Amino acid sequence: MTVLDRLTASVALNDAEAQLLDSLRGVCRDVIAPNAARYDQSGEFPWDSVNALNALGLNAVFVPEAYGGAGLRFTAYLACVREIAAACSSTALIWATNFHGMKPLIDFGTEEQKTRLLPRIAEGGFGALAITEQNAGSDATGMKTRFTPDGEHIVVQGSKTFITSGDVADRLLLFGKWSEIDSAKDAISVLVLEKGTPGFSVLGIEKKMGHNASSTAALAFDDCRVPRANLIGKPGDGLKVLFAALNKSRPSVAALCMGLARAAFARSVAYVNDRKQSGRRIIDNQGIQFMLADMATEITLTESFMWKVAAMIEAGVTDIGVESSMLKMKAADTVMKVTEDAVQLHGGYGYCREYEVERMMRDAKIHQIWEGTNQIHRQLIGRSFIQKEGR
Ligand SMILES: Cc1cc2nc3c(=O)[nH]c(=O)nc-3n(C[C@H](O)[C@H](O)[C@H](O)COP(=O)(O)OP(=O)(O)OC[C@H]3O[C@@H](n4cnc5c(N)ncnc54)[C@H](O)[C@@H]3O)c2cc1C
Repeated sequence: MTVLDRLTASVALNDAEAQLLDSLRGVCRDVIAPNAARYDQSGEFPWDSVNALNALGLNAVFVPEAYGGAGLRFTAYLACVREIAAACSSTALIWATNFHGMKPLIDFGTEEQKTRLLPRIAEGGFGALAITEQNAGSDATGMKTRFTPDGEHIVVQGSKTFITSGDVADRLLLFGKWSEIDSAKDAISVLVLEKGTPGFSVLGIEKKMGHNASSTAALAFDDCRVPRANLIGKPGDGLKVLFAALNKSRPSVAALCMGLARAAFARSVAYVNDRKQSGRRIIDNQGIQFMLADMATEITLTESFMWKVAAMIEAGVTDIGVESSMLKMKAADTVMKVTEDAVQLHGGYGYCREYEVERMMRDAKIHQIWEGTNQIHRQLIGRSFIQKEGR
């Protein structure tokens, strides 16, 4: 058993969770991993892979039993994300985005909203989380999308950019500003926009460096009339919902990173054990062993912290903003370094498409950019140590 196998074995799962993960491993091995390179190169939406996850009933795990789902502990959810990401990062991202988009509805929605809006997700529908706008990225409070109340409806006017699964989403968790509130922060509100709402359109899909099989959409809202019943909480509750949502989606990003990093590391170990130069295996060079040591250590320590944060979330701890930031930032830097080293260890072959570490390095980069860039996370963590002057 390697140190990484021991870390996997140390994650406590109950029998049902272990069985689900076992079935998921089979689907990843037989369907998702073999399709990953093809979808990356064609840029098509990975329907075969997503359908295979749905055949396993995997979307139901986002949704509590009371609303047509099966529920799953956060630790087990992260273990699933990590497993899928090791097979195909695009597919894992699509699946995890359902969680990122719908968890705030589960945590903050009313019984009526959950009963009405969640079953579609449990059946295999897509969720999306729409915050970013062309001129409001790192500073979400700069968003311009406007929510104007009109009787039993809210009229939505504006646009969003870079929205993962925005074109396929059945339920879009949409952030905007309440027209009757002046303050940039206090006005932020959140509602669920349903697929097919008149006035909602997809302006385009980005062509990207990585995660090519996951769609990243620019969206427009032209006087969309959304039932007031779809508002989450009260007007102005948006930032509260957003911060709580990010505290859970950032560990989920870390799980995407760890799956990808583990896959790149496994490919590297196999390659350097096999490839020979100067009459000996590449791994027999001490410099190569040092690289493997650093890669394995970074993955092990980062992932260990991920399971700790997951346990805090399961225990109901909510003041975990700094921990979530540290975890997302460290996991993103780790997967970037590990995948870059994986390409290096493969030599010229690592730079070529046939060897999957090329795709993995491209897929890794976005983790340092989304869910708060790593500069923003360093700022958030550093700021938490500022003391009042004169104390
Ligand atoms: C593939 C992809 C998928 C995405 N999916 C989603 C999604 O599903 N939903 C969604 O809402 N958004 C999504 N995003 C948007 C993503 O979260 C933003 O791109 C990210 O928050 C950064 O915003 P920005 O691109 O506008 O960069 P900017 O905010 O313009 O930043 C540019 C650079 O300036 C730095 N910078 C900015 N402010 C500061 C500061 N105060 N201090 C130090 N440095 C700073 C940044 O770190 C960065 O290096 C996605 C983006 C991509 C590319």
